[in-house]
Amino acid sequence: MQFDYDLFTIGAGSGGTRASRIAALAGARVAIAEEYRIGGTCVIRGCVPKKLLVYGAAYRQSFADAAAFGWQVENLSFDWPTLRNNVQAEVARLSGLYEQNLRKAGVTTFTQRAEVVDPHTVRLLRDDRTVTAERILIAVGGRPMLPRIPGVEHAITSNEAFLLETLPPRIVIVGGGYIALEFATIFNGLGVETVVAYRGERVLRGFDDDLREHVQAELRESGIDIRCGVNVAAIHPNAGSYHCDLTDVSVIETDLVMFAIGRAPHIDDLGLERAGVTIGPAGTIKVDEYSQSNVPSIYAVGDVTGRAPLTPVAIREGQAFADTVYNNRRTAVSYEDIPTAVFSRPPVGTVGLSEADARQRYARVEIYSTSFRPMNHILANNSGRTLMKLVVDAESDRLLGIHIAGPDAPEMIQLAAVALKAGITKTQWDSTVALHPTAAEELVLMRNRRP
Ligand code: NDP
Repeated sequence: MQFDYDLFTIGAGSGGTRASRIAALAGARVAIAEEYRIGGTCVIRGCVPKKLLVYGAAYRQSFADAAAFGWQVENLSFDWPTLRNNVQAEVARLSGLYEQNLRKAGVTTFTQRAEVVDPHTVRLLRDDRTVTAERILIAVGGRPMLPRIPGVEHAITSNEAFLLETLPPRIVIVGGGYIALEFATIFNGLGVETVVAYRGERVLRGFDDDLREHVQAELRESGIDIRCGVNVAAIHPNAGSYHCDLTDVSVIETDLVMFAIGRAPHIDDLGLERAGVTIGPAGTIKVDEYSQSNVPSIYAVGDVTGRAPLTPVAIREGQAFADTVYNNRRTAVSYEDIPTAVFSRPPVGTVGLSEADARQRYARVEIYSTSFRPMNHILANNSGRTLMKLVVDAESDRLLGIHIAGPDAPEMIQLAAVALKAGITKTQWDSTVALHPTAAEELVLMRNRRP
């Protein structure tokens, strides 16, 4: 049978664009459809603009510390539209680059919604026509979830946070995960009175417990009002602001409510059931280790598969799919020891097992940890501390987990993850000479086991 394309990708985010480009460069006839903007969540309303806002928010502390280093900073003021517009200009530049790279690779781009009709056909909604493809790749990512509570229509998610007309004087952020803490850090840094309402006991569930404790305490120290064990039950408009009913029957008055309670696969009305694709319990597309669904011509990569919803993983999955199918190199992605970072203040970098997970899987676990004030904080009399923790298997001496919360933790963890993934032992790790004066040197100087 003759198809219009060898591959039709739905969703031009991190995973979809990588897969499409590599397939096209391998000689496949490839088309990609995107209903919003080329680049996907990471580039348009995720990692990239978020990190730029984190940089913007960090200036507040830098200005506060500056006096101790001899700088007099006077008449400080902050202009949200300047930051917002500059960030959006950078987003537009990057989106343009993505588009250009697709074009250069020979991929045909449709900037409109596409839906699956059958295992080899997609419908382009704006053009109101169908096209056929030997294979279809679903890379539609996720979307923020919202709870079913009265007044939820007044709330925003991270999608809207990037584009606010004005900064609210006060905000309530619901959730205790990546997005809640990153945006709490951003809003707090930009001078917004910030409350985090988290339903659990300690933020960052799933991370190492000591790290969670440390980050929660440091965030509170930086002025964020973290309320644990509560959820928002209702939002009532009240003369330009909102009354937020909490589940502990307290009420918070605020100017904006933002939900950061997780993301769901973006598959509504995509036609997957019609094509016979098996959908998992959380709405994720079930795929095998080569990203193939139960329908042999339909594949899926990225957040929509729910494997590890992180940009670099989606990129790996897209590359592995294209290598397997179009480059004759059968490649499966390894999900072991993926480093991850939360760009809160302090930022978090972590890889491998938490202490609790290690104790469940290994008979004898050793813990090394240290907490200290970084050099520049001492001079500026800034109370922020860094926490570093190593989790070691006592039998083999292998490093199982590395957890850092403090300035530059994400930068440190990327390199530490190389060693951990390569199976380094604590003895080998310690044999590396410290680089002085850095915070990172403390990582190779932890000799005292925690009792
Ligand atoms: P997370 O899963 O990280 O956090 C969701 C938070 O919302 C948790 O604290 C969870 O609580 C809470 N929650 C879930 N359901 C409800 C509910 N019904 N009511 C109240 N609270 C609720 O999701 P995010 O939205 O923060 O981010 C989505 C994903 O995107 C992340 O998991 C991550 O994979 C990715 N991401 C990665 C980033 C990075 O690499 N730096 C940055 C941003 C996002 P509980 O803990 O009790 O379940």
